[in-house]
Amino acid sequence: MPGHRYTGRFAPSPTGLLHAGSVVAALASWLDTRAAGPTARWLVRIEDVDHTRCRPEWARANLQQLAALGLLPDVVPQWQSQRQSLYQGALQQLQQQGACYPCACSRKDIEAALAALGRRRTRHGELVYPGTCRLGNGGRAPLATRFRVTAANTAPCITHWIDRRLGAQQQDVAQDVGDFVLQRADGSFSYQLAVVVDDAAQGVTHVVRGADLADNTARQILLQQALALPTPRYLHTPLVVNAAGEKLSKQTGAQPVDTTQPLHALESAAQVLGLGPARAALPEALAGWVAQWRELYNPQP
Ligand code: GLU
Repeated sequence: MPGHRYTGRFAPSPTGLLHAGSVVAALASWLDTRAAGPTARWLVRIEDVDHTRCRPEWARANLQQLAALGLLPDVVPQWQSQRQSLYQGALQQLQQQGACYPCACSRKDIEAALAALGRRRTRHGELVYPGTCRLGNGGRAPLATRFRVTAANTAPCITHWIDRRLGAQQQDVAQDVGDFVLQRADGSFSYQLAVVVDDAAQGVTHVVRGADLADNTARQILLQQALALPTPRYLHTPLVVNAAGEKLSKQTGAQPVDTTQPLHALESAAQVLGLGPARAALPEALAGWVAQWRELYNPQP
């Protein structure tokens, strides 16, 4: 429900059980909400748009893990798989504005087009789309709908924002990412579209999430602007890394968090967030961290 008061959220993708990295993001967004005062509310949103990787049993397990840690949402969690019509509506709006187009390029096509241009640019394993289908896809069957980042691929398009922890940020989305996918051939909507639509539909004012997602912010701001939606405030937390210095993730074999020791699990997360050691018991520990967080980041409703 949109509103002006502080609304925070934790938005796990249920591709497995929550690990220490997920707990950092969950605790940080929960603390930011609680530090914003009694009228602030904390949402949990199940980001299961990618039906090939997400499972409902993992989503239910994630909610149980959060409950075991004492991180309880203030309203009933929303599931993205049940909100397809909202994403469809936003896509139609963008189509009517000419802000997106059908793209018929396979990965191979994109690789060939980039090779012909003498560049093979990637970003986190994703190819930078060179805009092949911007002016039409030659009647080939579309494989995706892409967001038109700028009217012309040559125009600089620097997006600026202030991260509450990292400070001033900027990205040239046209150069660094290219026109990005909103909907895939199987009809599934992309994370970028779903997250922007949901943050606005749920009235989210403050996004607090892991620094690995900071790189998506400029794309999300461009989509918010195209859809005439407000831009929330952003704070990206430090990441948990394993012994090899890799970001903790299910892909790098992160273990599920042990929720039989909630205080211990939260203390590790609090340490990553630069907060002091826990007081004796869970409620006091959480209250102490809320006070420290307020000092550090002073969230405003
Ligand atoms: N669902 C995303 C993830 O688990 C997080 C999205 C977000 O916080 O914006 O990586």
